[in-house]
Amino acid sequence: MRVGLDTPLQRVVGDASAKKLATALDLWTVGDLLRHYPRRYQEIGELTKLSRLVEGQHVTIMAKVVSLKNFPFGPGGRKTRTEVLVADESGELSLTFFNQRWLTRTLTPDTVGLFSGVVGSFRGRRQLTHPAFDPVGDRLGRGVVPIYRASAKVSSWDVEKCVAICLDVVGDLPETLPGDVRSARGYPPVAEAFQSVHRPWSMKEAMAAQARFRFEEAFLLQTVLARRRHAAAGTRAVARPPRPGGLRERFVERLPFALTAGQQEVVATLAAELAREHPMHRLLQGEVGSGKTIVALLAMLQVVDAGGQAALLAPTEVLAAQHHRTIEKLLGDLARSGMLGGDPDATRVRLLTGSMGVKARQEALLDMVSGAAGIVVGTHALIQDGVDFAELGLVVIDEQHRFGVEQRAALVDRSETRPHVLVMTATPIPRTVAMTVFGDLDMSTLRELPAGRQPIQTSVVPVADRPAWLDRAWERVGEEVARGRQVYVVASRIGEGDEPDPESPTRGLLELHEELAGGPLADLRLGVLHGRMAADDKETVMTAFADGEIDVLVATTVVEVGVDVPNATMMVIMDADRFGMSQLHQLRGRVGRGGEPGLCLLVTGADAESPAAERLKAVASTADGFELSRLDVSMRSEGDVLGTRQSGFRSSLRLLSVVRDEGVIADARTAAERVVADDPDLAALPELARAVLALEESDRAEYLERA
Ligand code: ADP
Ligand code: MG
Repeated sequence: MRVGLDTPLQRVVGDASAKKLATALDLWTVGDLLRHYPRRYQEIGELTKLSRLVEGQHVTIMAKVVSLKNFPFGPGGRKTRTEVLVADESGELSLTFFNQRWLTRTLTPDTVGLFSGVVGSFRGRRQLTHPAFDPVGDRLGRGVVPIYRASAKVSSWDVEKCVAICLDVVGDLPETLPGDVRSARGYPPVAEAFQSVHRPWSMKEAMAAQARFRFEEAFLLQTVLARRRHAAAGTRAVARPPRPGGLRERFVERLPFALTAGQQEVVATLAAELAREHPMHRLLQGEVGSGKTIVALLAMLQVVDAGGQAALLAPTEVLAAQHHRTIEKLLGDLARSGMLGGDPDATRVRLLTGSMGVKARQEALLDMVSGAAGIVVGTHALIQDGVDFAELGLVVIDEQHRFGVEQRAALVDRSETRPHVLVMTATPIPRTVAMTVFGDLDMSTLRELPAGRQPIQTSVVPVADRPAWLDRAWERVGEEVARGRQVYVVASRIGEGDEPDPESPTRGLLELHEELAGGPLADLRLGVLHGRMAADDKETVMTAFADGEIDVLVATTVVEVGVDVPNATMMVIMDADRFGMSQLHQLRGRVGRGGEPGLCLLVTGADAESPAAERLKAVASTADGFELSRLDVSMRSEGDVLGTRQSGFRSSLRLLSVVRDEGVIADARTAAERVVADDPDLAALPELARAVLALEESDRAEYLERA
């Protein structure tokens, strides 16, 4: 029998073991098992640090027996409880076995063995009840013992034994790493690496093998992404070069401010890429308020000048409506084609959202399909059936994290030549995440804020410890309004039709509004804005706030993305511990947008020592979004970081950490880029091609499953 990575485990380790591995650990093939890498290694002679064990966890430890005692119990004392005490310098642990008197012979003092079970506690003492036990025995010749992720049904050493069987019979392991890529980095060949990762003689050998597989994971992923970039570069787009004397040029001339050096650089990059006959695929990330919108608008105008249309996709109706308003205002007569006072060269800016009235919708659709609208701003309604453009040349996606890849694909796939694509993120993301999650896009970054931008001061208001500070906060709101400024108060939930949550000390928006209107902010003009309001009402409130007719806007996170009212200088975020760090950063970016310094108060009932309070302190401690995103990511789990995007990829990552392994990911990206440039079809690298294809398939499958 030839055994390869695809061989079902059943045929190699037998029915019983195969069944256990499948049900307990979801391992079905030899490949599954061989890629179930040890989660750590235990050096023989070194014992597991007992003081580090956490209650409730299933653990596998190596420990030395100190003492053993048998206690008879039950009717006639026929049953036995055996108490074994094991210890190391850091602590001790008691092991309780039932009816295993024979252990008296095995677990003699000074015996070293592997024990596994769930850490519990009994009378203040930590213990494992009825642990599984395996003597170190014939591993003694080796320097280290692999410890696998295991469960009550399948112990670490069960896995170890099955792996050993597989390693002995498996043949023809495919070498997916190209020879030069591997040897340049000194990584062991695949067969040797599998031996070393599972049955190492030393810690060093194990680490070298792990390093190889970690790189391999990054390399496969980056090869998939490099191929996507390559394929995209191979498709055609209509070149949209800048037109001298066009709308773009005239608009730049009348901008009331100078572009920052960073903006100029990005604008130049976009201008050059739009002028090519290949579609641009670029991610623009930048600090909140760094002026991404203007940059995008210039790109859109360039496309309009060249006879194309541009679509701007926003994640919410509020934001779409606001973008529409901002762009119309910025363009002035340049956006009033065919209207009174319109420039002869003017274009038209249209809004299309799901909740628009029939008539407005018809008008918008007509202008889109006739080409009269050079710029169309909308929500996902833009990508529905029956929505057509005359000449879609550029798609700008604002605040990407709210948009799925699939939606992006839906818009881009519908025309014969591809439109250019510009994706903008809401908040900065760390380099590793960008390289992985947005790895199929080229990248530009805006680091600086426009000159004159005022700093935002952020303070935590701990209501549990300092209830008086909240009263002071409302006074401060009054002072701000008295100075002619406006204020946001943000609540974490609406509070109407919510499931009642007796655990939750937080207040809903409606309740909060009532309380403020009847109390501390009684003299001010309050407005309410949340996602469940009718689109027209939202629009009315937003416009009233923008026009200064509302002093204090009590809102949910609908104000999070991109809402831009320069006269708003203060924000009070209630139950701030309910929000993520980058979300808070995004939120506070709404203030301090005019010439006035911004103030953001993070109100929390969280205990000062809690992780939630730590996160708030971190947000208050830095105004730098890149620094904050790094902190944020380091406090989250891998799955969280990758999100739902590319979940097919996520399941392929076993050793690679998107958070920690920046060096590996960057190295793999360079290597993959070179390989794909030389041989895009991977014709000379059949094993790599097979692995890459499998990964692409799994990503596609996951994606279809979700759709
Ligand atoms: P974001 O990157 O968060 O989307 P915006 O594009 O909304 O930022 O810009 C924030 C504000 O800064 C807007 O009011 C915009 O008009 C203004 N702005 C953009 N660029 C500059 C600049 N170079 N100088 C001064 N103000 C600018
Ligand atoms: Mg924006």
